[in-house]
Amino acid sequence: MGYIEPAPIKDKENPFESMMSRFHIAAQALGLDDEIYNVLKSPYKQAIVSLPVTMDDGSIKVFEGYRVIHSNILGPSKGGVRYDMGVNLDEVKALAAWMTWKCAVVDIPYGGAKGGIKCNPREMSPGEIERLTRAYTQNMHEIFGPDRDIPAPDMGTGPREMAWMMDEYSRAQGMTVNAVVTGKPIVLGGSLGRTEATGRGVMISALAAMEKMKINPFNAKCAIQGFGNVGSWAGKLLEERGVSVVAISDVSGAYFNDGGINMNEAIAYRDKNNGQLEGFPGAEKINPDELLLLDVDVLIPAAKEDVITFDNAAKIKAKLIVEGANGPTSARADAILQENDVLAVPDILANAGGVTVSYFEWVQNRLGYKWTRERVNRRSDRIMKTSFNKVYEISQEYKVSLRIAAYIVAIEKVSTTYKYRGGF
Ligand code: GLU
Repeated sequence: MGYIEPAPIKDKENPFESMMSRFHIAAQALGLDDEIYNVLKSPYKQAIVSLPVTMDDGSIKVFEGYRVIHSNILGPSKGGVRYDMGVNLDEVKALAAWMTWKCAVVDIPYGGAKGGIKCNPREMSPGEIERLTRAYTQNMHEIFGPDRDIPAPDMGTGPREMAWMMDEYSRAQGMTVNAVVTGKPIVLGGSLGRTEATGRGVMISALAAMEKMKINPFNAKCAIQGFGNVGSWAGKLLEERGVSVVAISDVSGAYFNDGGINMNEAIAYRDKNNGQLEGFPGAEKINPDELLLLDVDVLIPAAKEDVITFDNAAKIKAKLIVEGANGPTSARADAILQENDVLAVPDILANAGGVTVSYFEWVQNRLGYKWTRERVNRRSDRIMKTSFNKVYEISQEYKVSLRIAAYIVAIEKVSTTYKYRGGF
């Protein structure tokens, strides 16, 4: 690799730049050809669409939607659709590229994509969300397809939205095509084990890292930022394996109990309380910024991008970070964590359990067959463990962080496949 300019690391990074700077370091370590570097750094397709939706009061509101396919070198592109006010093209581009690397790290035959709609689903009625989801799916009809591009849930979406997407796509095709989306309700061909899959993968990654670091789970304390699907399942499954979850947080605030927060109680409270922890009696309320800096063994950021940054990385006391969210650590924070001997299990490895079980769902749909929960869990656990070990070995071999090692594994796989397939 010769002339390629390093991706600039600015004071205020955006997720795409964070992704690119890691990609660049790994590409250099691998000695990647300039040509392939240029292919992999550019998204294959970027769609921005306007979605007019009739609101409940009769007015028409226009929403902006995105779908970015970063790569389809390994197979049809795969990735979730996010509903959030913060959605923008740079974020979707980064998230799409992360999906490419994630699928390659766990060795499933997919490329990477991501979609999003700039909206606030909390302020919309179910009917409005349904019309918006159907408008998006209709507009993306040429892009989606079980052999082309396969959406899934992400922040702000879940099985309900996936059911609407599957139905809208199927209507346009004139037949039922359940393999076009994953994360569907079970009755529509969703997979057992998909709901908890990302959190379960986070748990498997955390335990694998704790074993390497000789941390006994029964003596370990953990803090979790974000108590949505990923954070709450990771917390529940870690608690079952002896870890004490002492802090959790969501948009309503952060909650701390040094004696351990009962995960089932917290989940039940959240579910009864409109999805939020506000007023949770099992812990004391603390400043959300402090959660990341608590004196715990394991820190699990499971909310959003760029929460561990240049500004707070040096103050983190946990020796192990397991990234449930996509992109929670900014590129400038990486060096600080490494200097302080903090082991970070990167997003593209730690949270890959979700897309792994999405892959199982797609396989089951195409076979017209259903696997048991045990089979799903056994196979996804095995993939997560094997992938962790591979990334760990590469990190030792190249003397790099687990994050750069994961990028090396991914880039090597995608670039080798590209060489065999050939360009235009
Ligand atoms: N949105 C999830 C992720 O970021 C799942 C993607 C999928 O299952 O396709 O990994």
